[in-house]
Amino acid sequence: MATIASPVEINSEVADFLKRPRKMFIGGAWVEAASGKTFDTYNPATGEVLAKVCEGDHVDIDRAVKAARKAFEEGPWPDMVPAERARLLWKLAELIDEHKEELAELETLDNGKPLLFSRIVDVPTAAANFRYMSGWATKIEGSTIPISMPRAKYFAYTLREPIGVAGQIIPWNFPLIMASLKLGPALAAGCTVVLKPAEQTPLTALRLGELIQEAGFPDGVVNIVPGFGETAGAALAAHPDVDKVAFTGSTEVGRLIVTAAAGNLKKVSLELGGKSPNIVFADADLDCAIPGSANAIFFNQGQICAAGSRLFVHKSIFDKVVAGVAEASKKFQIGPGIDPATTLGPLVSQEQLERVCGYLDSGIKDGAKAAIGGRKIAGSGYFVEPTVLVDVRPEMKVVREEIFGPVVTAIPFSDPNEIVKSANDTHYGLASAVWTRDVSTAHKVAAKIRAGTVWVNCYNIFDAALPFGGYRQSGWGRECGREGIELYTETKAVCAQL
Ligand code: ADP
Repeated sequence: MATIASPVEINSEVADFLKRPRKMFIGGAWVEAASGKTFDTYNPATGEVLAKVCEGDHVDIDRAVKAARKAFEEGPWPDMVPAERARLLWKLAELIDEHKEELAELETLDNGKPLLFSRIVDVPTAAANFRYMSGWATKIEGSTIPISMPRAKYFAYTLREPIGVAGQIIPWNFPLIMASLKLGPALAAGCTVVLKPAEQTPLTALRLGELIQEAGFPDGVVNIVPGFGETAGAALAAHPDVDKVAFTGSTEVGRLIVTAAAGNLKKVSLELGGKSPNIVFADADLDCAIPGSANAIFFNQGQICAAGSRLFVHKSIFDKVVAGVAEASKKFQIGPGIDPATTLGPLVSQEQLERVCGYLDSGIKDGAKAAIGGRKIAGSGYFVEPTVLVDVRPEMKVVREEIFGPVVTAIPFSDPNEIVKSANDTHYGLASAVWTRDVSTAHKVAAKIRAGTVWVNCYNIFDAALPFGGYRQSGWGRECGREGIELYTETKAVCAQL
């Protein structure tokens, strides 16, 4: 059974940040909630209160939307040349780099994830996202369009204009990365923003707000209102003066966002859940496919929408791959994320722990067997054993529903021509992977899978330039790359008779 390593001291800048109740960022000022309320954020490694945070509700959201509207219509932001927006975004990336250790520790304490990954994944990726989007600010172009109307000459062209005030609601699994994925394209396009971080993990977004201020973004361009989903989040999604809402989170809440957005028909983009198939063919290079499949499900404690949670393995190598993934799971050093030796941390919250354990119970009750793991780890903190479930059937809840924890269902297949059918047997369509040495198999399967991403002989490869998003109930739209920018622009057609 896995054990939990001992905790480590945190650095003094972070300790100071955690001492005072954290305020919200509205119109360039740090303010308390209109209600005066605060809420607690917890350290998932211990279950203890980490910090107090001002609790925004519909009144604060309204204040923030007004500030964002004012900044969109008046003052320096609408007149700012694209190169200046690019410079500000680049400066923000530099400030993230300057404060990387502090941000990494804060992220780890608030979310639970291993400091190792906060350092090498979360913080550098956030900086990279802002740098990439900085480049786009000067490259948002329309086009000239030939017109076929007879008897006169026309000159027609398109402009891509910022969509306006964007409401952005983000989850807790990659708090800083999610903030950068949302803010980067919106600011590059010239929008103003009200960002609502997840109630479980508001701290790095609030620290980012301080860096945004230091970078020199005009007041009101970015507003950050921490609070709960049903209050602050719902108010933002429904607000009549918000032009666009961008959401990342569960499919269930995605539906609520769509309904709330219908009032003023604001534009909506959604990055939702997944139950991604990870397919290992008989000819795969198992030295890569086995650790790759373990990483696909255990990275970030499985709390990643793209997680490879349905592992399909050709029956000729099924036992070997399952044993290999189980063996790989034993190599994780489980402990508080703040210990630099930790490679698998706690889940984010008590609620998430109960949810994942509920799925483990349901799987076992339905007849699945744990080839490894399968239980909560005793003691304080929200730790769960990395788990591989075998003897599963397609109709089981553990195969159909998103668990969002370190739990993979392993399923053998025999007919390579039939596997795509099983892979596509889901309401989701976010990500997928194929492990094979056969180029033809790789690309044939890639073409048939109904998912926004197909990885070939790799997993969890994300890039600011690579569009990411879902088919089916995994979402609407694509973040990153050109498409990410387009989510924040409106196209205007201008047609002049000459
Ligand atoms: P999870 O189930 O992974 O916690 P959620 O989809 O519940 O993810 O949460 C993602 C984000 O959506 C969080 O910022 C949360 O506060 C917010 N949220 C939750 N419920 C609502 C809602 N009804 N309206 C708007 N935002 C919400």
